[in-house]
Amino acid sequence: MTTSGKPDRGSVKMNSEECKGCGLCVEACPPKVLRLTDRLNRYGYHPAEYVGAGCTGCGICFFVCPEPGGIAVLRLEVPKAAALAGAAA
Ligand code: SF4
Ligand code: SF4
Repeated sequence: MTTSGKPDRGSVKMNSEECKGCGLCVEACPPKVLRLTDRLNRYGYHPAEYVGAGCTGCGICFFVCPEPGGIAVLRLEVPKAAALAGAAA
């Protein structure tokens, strides 16, 4: 759920063991829903993580990440307003 109360349009799966902690995804994410963690992964880097809400599914983090398989973006199906109105009727 976003801060505006709308359902999230996307989600991300971060592969923390492949992350090199470069922070490019954190900087590039428009709604700023990624952050670097305090813990270290097996390579000794602070991996990025999803805060758990607010992703729009834009895919920018996927395209800026230099690590293959570092990030997977999921686009979530959001019910259309019309369908919701119809369901409420
Ligand atoms: S898909 Fe877009 S909104 Fe979601 S975490 Fe990546 S950059 Fe941020
Ligand atoms: S861009 Fe990729 S390697 Fe860099 S911090 Fe984000 S997930 Fe890790």
